[in-house]
Amino acid sequence: MKSDARVVVVGGGVVGASVLYHLSKAGWKDLLLIERGELTCGSTWHAAGGMHTVNGDPNVAKLQQYTINLYKELEEISGQSCGMHLTGGLMLAGTRERLDWLKMTQARGRYLGMELELISVDEAARLFPLMNPRHFVGALFDPIEGHVDPWGVTQAYAKAAQLNGAEIVRHTRVLDLKARRDGSWDVITAGGNVHAEHVVNAGGLWAREVGRMVGLELPVLAMEHQYLITEDLPALRGQKEQLHVIDFEGEIYTRQERGGMLLGTYERAGVPWSPVTTPWEFAQSLLPNDLERIAPSLEIGFEHFPALGEVGIRKVVNGPFTFAPDGNPLVGPVRGLRNFWVACGVMAGFSQGGGVGLALSRWMVDGDPGADVWAMDVARYGDWATLAYTNAKVRENYSRRFSIRFPNEELPAARPLRTTPIYERLLSAHAVFGDYCALEHALWFAPSAAAANETITFHRSNAHAHVGAECVAVRDGVGLLEISNYGKFEVTGAGSAEWLSYVMANRVPQVGRIALTPMLNERGKLIGDFTLCRLGAERLFLICTYAAESYYRRWFERHPPPAGVSVRPCAMEYVGLSVAGPGARALLQELVRVDLSNAAFPFLSFRQVDIGMVPALLGRISFTGEPGYEIWVTTDYQRALYDLLSAAGRAHGLRLFGGRALNALRIEKSFGTWAREYRPIYGPYEAGLGRFVDLNKGDFVGRAAALEEQQSGGALRLMSFSVEAADADASGDEPIWHDGRVVGWVTSGAFGHRVQRSLALGYIPAALAAASEGFEIEIIGERRRARPERAAVYDPAGSRMRT
Ligand SMILES: Cc1cc2nc3c(=O)[nH]c(=O)nc-3n(C[C@H](O)[C@H](O)[C@H](O)COP(=O)(O)OP(=O)(O)OC[C@H]3O[C@@H](n4cnc5c(N)ncnc54)[C@H](O)[C@@H]3O)c2cc1C
Repeated sequence: MKSDARVVVVGGGVVGASVLYHLSKAGWKDLLLIERGELTCGSTWHAAGGMHTVNGDPNVAKLQQYTINLYKELEEISGQSCGMHLTGGLMLAGTRERLDWLKMTQARGRYLGMELELISVDEAARLFPLMNPRHFVGALFDPIEGHVDPWGVTQAYAKAAQLNGAEIVRHTRVLDLKARRDGSWDVITAGGNVHAEHVVNAGGLWAREVGRMVGLELPVLAMEHQYLITEDLPALRGQKEQLHVIDFEGEIYTRQERGGMLLGTYERAGVPWSPVTTPWEFAQSLLPNDLERIAPSLEIGFEHFPALGEVGIRKVVNGPFTFAPDGNPLVGPVRGLRNFWVACGVMAGFSQGGGVGLALSRWMVDGDPGADVWAMDVARYGDWATLAYTNAKVRENYSRRFSIRFPNEELPAARPLRTTPIYERLLSAHAVFGDYCALEHALWFAPSAAAANETITFHRSNAHAHVGAECVAVRDGVGLLEISNYGKFEVTGAGSAEWLSYVMANRVPQVGRIALTPMLNERGKLIGDFTLCRLGAERLFLICTYAAESYYRRWFERHPPPAGVSVRPCAMEYVGLSVAGPGARALLQELVRVDLSNAAFPFLSFRQVDIGMVPALLGRISFTGEPGYEIWVTTDYQRALYDLLSAAGRAHGLRLFGGRALNALRIEKSFGTWAREYRPIYGPYEAGLGRFVDLNKGDFVGRAAALEEQQSGGALRLMSFSVEAADADASGDEPIWHDGRVVGWVTSGAFGHRVQRSLALGYIPAALAAASEGFEIEIIGERRRARPERAAVYDPAGSRMRT
């Protein structure tokens, strides 16, 4: 084995092999993959090899499409067969709701260029005669589905990489990883040590153990998974190969395997494997079968596909494979560790392995994954994703693999975990909670404890009227909202403003003022939106998206502040409350000694203020479009502040409001938000944030690309639409049609209670931005007329929030 390498990839499953191939394809040399056994000996070898393009996240779906399309090229380059069976696939709906879900999946696929076809049960039965049509109401046909040979695919990646000069060492375990001062790594193996510039953890079933070598507790857990293969079915003799089929209500998938059928299930009572440590002895191994556990699913399977129950079982496979809490991969560079990368938690290696390899290789070679990979970025998890949290969430995710996720659905596992001091207060005010980064936050308030329950639906739920009343209260009176679930940083020390001016696109505000600013990458794309609040010459308080805290910290490591500047994450040290509405000032003025008049404390002011006995940071800012204040206090004061505001608020008709109302209010104002309107595939001018980019302040990250975008106008445009909806509003990812063609996609949607209209925000080509006719938004399979709005539909001049 060589003693020096540019990259050591730890693990030769399908993912490690793909990373190796993609790095070699990108032109990197001195690549070494180290595998402790044979290639594929982890979870790869016993996979069912199924591949699908559909994924809940459109950007992951694109990478799945890439993976499946890659196999042909890979076979040509390597000369190794991937054992491809591109049979096409059926997703079967057993209920009306599932059919709605399939319609939405089809709609989503439209702007991804996927040719998904909604077909009747009869058509489905013609394509897949083994099904009993009685149990189904419709189906979605995907021509790009099938299965591959797991061993063949892994070998094909490996051979193609080797042809490009990469080396593979087998039967050698990586025992430890030691960081050197210069950011390079000593890879300690049973067969000698390798000094590597970069290390990639593609350890699959052992990714957790490889992570622990460098002090990381990665949120991955393996689950046992079983499938069986039947004896040959007489009905298949002489027939064309059967399609891939997913039966959602039965929670099973099936496909042909030689003369029989393979039937797998994601059972409700899924069992984690090796919840704490993974045994190293496990290689090319399987687990004991437990047909009892999957018996309920098998019964349904044999009822839905009777021919499968008429023959014997030839083989049962029970093998483990890993999941992250949300079921998407964990990919990317790890904050706090130089040149350490992960590509693990890949639960669908044959749909996703190619895309993961491509994104990671680009990230390593170009410094950017080249696509929007937020949904699989390892930085989306923070310290709260502990071993036990991961265990609860992965089990939940596994058991729900084939369940519908409704847009208003909140999942129960691992909750409540993180709560703020006013949690019990909100609970007794009948809050219905959601969780965000494992932190409970109020979504809306019900009139009684008995009513504090939301029906999950694609349509407007029982919360609709209550959310409406909250919005109206904020418009006409004053509302109180908890805003603790934001990320926060404190930036202090000489040079703070200069550094922030370099990493952010807007000008740093004067002392006592607030500035909104996008953060851009070198390609001029949006990688964050921040509120900069300046408390002193060298003290700034930053408010941002909490879920992206690790992502931002990683970025700040890449553009580090000068010595003497401290950038301290403090999200849970400061919790917050916001008062909003025309009555907000009068209420707050009763509790503070400073003058809150518009002249003395205008819009975008920020200062330290005592509210009663509570020392607070007070900002005059609005995400609702109404006059409002954000109040930040250390955790120990939040309850006192809440009680004070609640007591004083009684005379002002103060009403609690939650995240649902806030979402509707901000959409009426065309205010975007991170991970929806603002993502690394959009530029600031495309997103309507051009006024927050100061091209004249001197250099900053992304300036050259932003200037280019300003001059060209960008390719896309974020647009607000009024939608002629019925009883369902857009929620995100619906296609936007124009003159019979899909031209864009919705990023957010809600019913605007102040304007009494269904609304959507979404991206369309810039060339269509001036068009005022011909737009439609597809909601649950129906194209609804949509009118583009040239300005925010509520208070377009923004005068209310400034008064
Ligand atoms: C029963 C079953 C059915 C499945 N069906 C499908 C399917 O139909 N479609 C699909 O897409 N996916 C399926 N999967 C999932 C699929 O197998 C995984 O997505 C895939 O194998 C993940 O690959 P990996 O490379 O990340 O992990 P692994 O295959 O586990 O590879 C990791 C490799 O790293 C090596 N390694 C770890 N630590 C070290 C170390 N310290 N030193 C050296 N080497 C090390 C291991 O030996 C192993 O070979 C199935 C899985 C199972 C169990």
